[in-house]
Amino acid sequence: MRSAGRPADLRLVGLSKIYGDLAAVHDVSLDVAPGEFVALLGPSGCGKTTTLRMVAGFVPPSAGAVFVGDADVTRLPPERRDIGMVFQNYALFPHMTVRANIEFGLKCHRLARAERVQRTADVIDLVGLGTMADRYPRQLSGGQQQRVALARVMALRPRLLLFDEPLSNLDAKLREQMRDEILRLQRQSGVTALFVTHDRDEAMTMADRIVVMSKGRVEQVGTPADIYDHPCTRFVADFIGAANFFEGAVEGPGDCRVFRCRGGHVLPLPTNAPSATTLAVRPERIAFVAPTTDGALAGIVTRVRHVASVIEYLVTLPSGEVVSAQVQRRHAVPQFCEGEAVAITWPPADSILLPS
Ligand code: ADP
Ligand code: MG
Repeated sequence: MRSAGRPADLRLVGLSKIYGDLAAVHDVSLDVAPGEFVALLGPSGCGKTTTLRMVAGFVPPSAGAVFVGDADVTRLPPERRDIGMVFQNYALFPHMTVRANIEFGLKCHRLARAERVQRTADVIDLVGLGTMADRYPRQLSGGQQQRVALARVMALRPRLLLFDEPLSNLDAKLREQMRDEILRLQRQSGVTALFVTHDRDEAMTMADRIVVMSKGRVEQVGTPADIYDHPCTRFVADFIGAANFFEGAVEGPGDCRVFRCRGGHVLPLPTNAPSATTLAVRPERIAFVAPTTDGALAGIVTRVRHVASVIEYLVTLPSGEVVSAQVQRRHAVPQFCEGEAVAITWPPADSILLPS
């Protein structure tokens, strides 16, 4: 949903936050296009919330600037930024009904009564809480409370919606439903969204683009497919999905490059592969082949796990390296037992080369 050519709706320029001698956020720059859904993804403590709170205006940056559209909002208070924020703990007023919770924000923004009533009714409808408008938060499930929190923010029609792990208090099934729900509302309203999560699947399924963060820094920005297929660093390769890593070096001329693993074996590479000290390959790209296959790696199956639709094998190579391989459970797919000798291979194009 990126609008090519239009200026960014949100622009972060060299944003940093220093606490004592800790750089909680370091030099983060990012452009978010109008209507785009961007996820900030990274492990706990990597600086996601701090970044979001600087965007919202709750935390003053140590350096850098925040632009909403053309306006530099770095020094504006939160209520003057045209930004709405949805929190993990919903932050609803317990003594107010659903309707009153939603209307409250509109009152604060001094909207006329008729407009308030209309907007409140509209968003209650939008999030599917029509029959619950007169209930109190304690009479609602977690998912319903999250819907109210969302409706309350959307009623203000902000230009930008910020989410800080809004689904992490919900159980797995509801979490998936709410993913779809939030996306539907975001698409329908066209609001620009910045969504913080430590959950890779959440980021992958929801976002137009993902910003992977580690230790206060941006590691990589890209579409979910980009980040999965072409991670730039070992951290990203590892965080964004299962991966096998081989240490070694790239050798040979441009048209015939190979990766010589420390373990001794040689892996083919695409033409003109760059220099690298680590080669990564996703478990599902690995195929089991006949032992006589050219270039195949011999090994022994040392573990078999049946995980719903896939079978996960660990294959131990003569070098001692352990490779994880995943195959779809389908009819006529050969299955292997622990202790069985096998051979594995994968297309050179599926080798991901990473700098040290
Ligand atoms: P995340 O949301 O990715 O889990 P945070 O942005 O909350 O990470 O925190 C990033 C780092 O900054 C953490 O090491 C955290 O302990 C530290 N931090 C956050 N807020 C403060 C604060 N107010 N004072 C000192 N350190 C903080
Ligand atoms: Mg956080």
